[in-house]
Amino acid sequence: MDLLEYQARDLFERFGVPVLPGQIARTPEEARAAYVALGTDTVVVKAQVRIGGRGKAGGVKLAHSEDEVVTTAAQILDLTIKGHEVDVVMLSPGASIKEEYYFSILLDRASRGYLAMCSVEGGVEIETLAEERPEALVRVELDAVEGITPEVAQRIVAEAGFPEEIHGSVSEVLQKLWVAFKESDATLVEVNPLVQTSDGTILALDGKITLDDNADYRHPEWEQYEETSGQVDLERQARELDLNYVKLDGSVGVIGNGAGLVMSTLDVVAAAGEDLPGQPKPANFLDIGGGASAQVMANGLRIIMSDPQVKSVFVNVFGGITACSDVANGIVNALEMLGDEANLPIVVRLDGNSVDVGKAILAEANHPLITVKNTMDDAARTAAKLAAEGNN
Ligand code: GDP
Ligand code: MN
Repeated sequence: MDLLEYQARDLFERFGVPVLPGQIARTPEEARAAYVALGTDTVVVKAQVRIGGRGKAGGVKLAHSEDEVVTTAAQILDLTIKGHEVDVVMLSPGASIKEEYYFSILLDRASRGYLAMCSVEGGVEIETLAEERPEALVRVELDAVEGITPEVAQRIVAEAGFPEEIHGSVSEVLQKLWVAFKESDATLVEVNPLVQTSDGTILALDGKITLDDNADYRHPEWEQYEETSGQVDLERQARELDLNYVKLDGSVGVIGNGAGLVMSTLDVVAAAGEDLPGQPKPANFLDIGGGASAQVMANGLRIIMSDPQVKSVFVNVFGGITACSDVANGIVNALEMLGDEANLPIVVRLDGNSVDVGKAILAEANHPLITVKNTMDDAARTAAKLAAEGNN
């Protein structure tokens, strides 16, 4: 789960990471009140969306008076940045920036460890920096238990080439960011820019935090974040039903058994959609595992079909321990349970254990929403085509 900037700011503050005050506003008038509450002449008004590059898109602007704040907030609240509507802005006292740096800690799945990345050339997007000036980006592997000790912090600031006089203050901030990362069960903490102000203070001016959803059971306080994201809502419902579901951005719902099969199904659907109008893509990952009971199937179909982006569903099952006949019965009974709630075309591909009986059950049911295909490719093409048609 990705936090919005103001949520990251609040979290940093709790861990003693130096940040500027922040006030959020949902309307221009709330922005006026926030400006008055901050009590500084110059403020920065920042769009709160889960996407970088807000500055370039006009989502970060300075304002110097009450009236200017109101018009600036109105402008930014009207923006859609790379498909993300701006519902909230954050106001902060304008910082007087001397230098901008980059720092992040992330879970590096390739090395099965944590990685710190740092550069004294901040402010630009990290992907650009990594591509154009890789030598300016210092990478330090972190011991998962030790993390950023004073020694490690010193090493990072020295290797990155920070000015000598701020080695101590930057090191301190890096250590606090490690504690914030670890204690929050984050998989990413990124500060871009980390700045030195004209009076030499180090501040985290923009924070991005990704929390590890697998740790949500020990963070009841995360519920406050979920409310701000409609997308996470479906995932939470799915979790309550014990479904292994991840929402994606496309229009073809996918149900399969086994994580490997579901992942390859996503690839096949994406490939099948490439040449079609609107390029339909997978709408989700959903692994129903070994349990293909009617209840599990009904829960899965209900979650997928309540995603307004979904136009068709692809059920791809390889019968191993679970027989295809059980899956077929599960689908038929699930559709009965769902009644009118089920209203999208469903393409089914079955193979493996008891496939013939499974197909016979589906043929017998002769349900108007179900199309059976014999191969994964054929089924993916059909589901993608139905999604493309459903979009018109
Ligand atoms: P992003 O573009 O989404 O990463 O948004 P940032 O919060 O990182 O802001 C982009 C840029 O705006 C920063 O790199 C700064 O150069 C500038 N900026 C942000 N806040 C302030 C501020 O308080 N004062 C000044 N002068 N510039 C700011
Ligand atoms: Mn930034």
